[in-house]
Amino acid sequence: MPELSDKMNLLDLDRAGMEAFFTSIGEKAFRATQVLKWIHQHRVIDLNEMTNLSKSLREKLQQMAEVRLPEVLVDQKSDDGTRKWLLRLDSGNSIETVFIPEGSRGTLCVSSQIGCALECSFCATGRQGFNRNLSTGEIISQVLVANHALGFDDEGERVVTNVVMMGMGEPLLNFDNVIAAMNIMMDDFAYGISKRRVTLSTAGVVPALERLRDTIDVSLALSLHAPNNALRDVLVPLNKKYPIKETLDVCKRYFDGKKHRYLTVEYVMLKDINDKPEHAHELVKLLKNVPSKVNLIPFNPFDETQYERSSQTAINKFRDILIKNGLITITRKTRGDDIDAACGQLAGRVQDKTRRTQKRVQLQAGAK
Ligand code: SAH
Repeated sequence: MPELSDKMNLLDLDRAGMEAFFTSIGEKAFRATQVLKWIHQHRVIDLNEMTNLSKSLREKLQQMAEVRLPEVLVDQKSDDGTRKWLLRLDSGNSIETVFIPEGSRGTLCVSSQIGCALECSFCATGRQGFNRNLSTGEIISQVLVANHALGFDDEGERVVTNVVMMGMGEPLLNFDNVIAAMNIMMDDFAYGISKRRVTLSTAGVVPALERLRDTIDVSLALSLHAPNNALRDVLVPLNKKYPIKETLDVCKRYFDGKKHRYLTVEYVMLKDINDKPEHAHELVKLLKNVPSKVNLIPFNPFDETQYERSSQTAINKFRDILIKNGLITITRKTRGDDIDAACGQLAGRVQDKTRRTQKRVQLQAGAK
């Protein structure tokens, strides 16, 4: 359902967009940084309270623009400090955003789409089908809501130090809105997070990765999950379109000319599927010439999945082979599973426009 207001949502604009907006209404471009600061640093959403804008400008703005934040439906805290917000976007849809504290780092896991079209076979979001892209405003709202709730630590630093685009959706299939939102995350007049602390995670949309290189400098994570095409075709069906070599090549090119930057390779550990020592050796060969760090992610099960999590022994053995062969490897801790906030468990509520769910139910009924 379309949003009811036809006013411009100022949350949709990064600095360039905001400057263009002010210029287009006959105002000075520097108003952009003032308004960005009000919204993102002071969380002032009432235009009338933006007191360094003249009264007449405020009145003019109110006629055509507003700051439209999603409603926080649920705010849950896990025993381990992980926190999850459920945000209501429009009548049928909501999304989840997760905050994961670890030592001095606080990572926010942000969604880019409602549902996902990629159908990775081990991912709960893929199961739900795809509904629509999030707007820039809906993406950056997640950062705004979390920052507002968590604020600053004793040293005056923001508690949210890192953002990963690892929530629901494939960020590169919502290119422009994700770029604008990441621009706002990194803008000193908004959140001022460094490029090393903003990570885009992708299943590997090759043409969009080419474009990304010319558009923005952030950290990059690739959801590889398999060391050969036959297996990856099954786990990440996008691989049939963009096979492994092509995908790794474009990721490598992304870091061309950038020093001390590594590709994060994500690898979900699925029992007896991709977790054998031979897979580890194959992975070592594959990543030989790719400056990378491997993140092993123990699989997080969800209803109706056919997969199981690898045993701790299998994960450790796999990790040791990679490390012995010179790959920097860490096993991602499973966090927040008591509130269903772990990787791949984010669901929100999606109106399945593709009717995939209905089709599956029919198929299952037919199979009985
Ligand atoms: N579409 C993007 C970002 C979404 S998910 C991408 O593919 O990278 C972020 C990470 O969680 C991805 O590596 C994804 O493959 C992984 N993931 C998805 N489902 C999972 C599950 N059930 N258990 C563990 N990791 C999962």
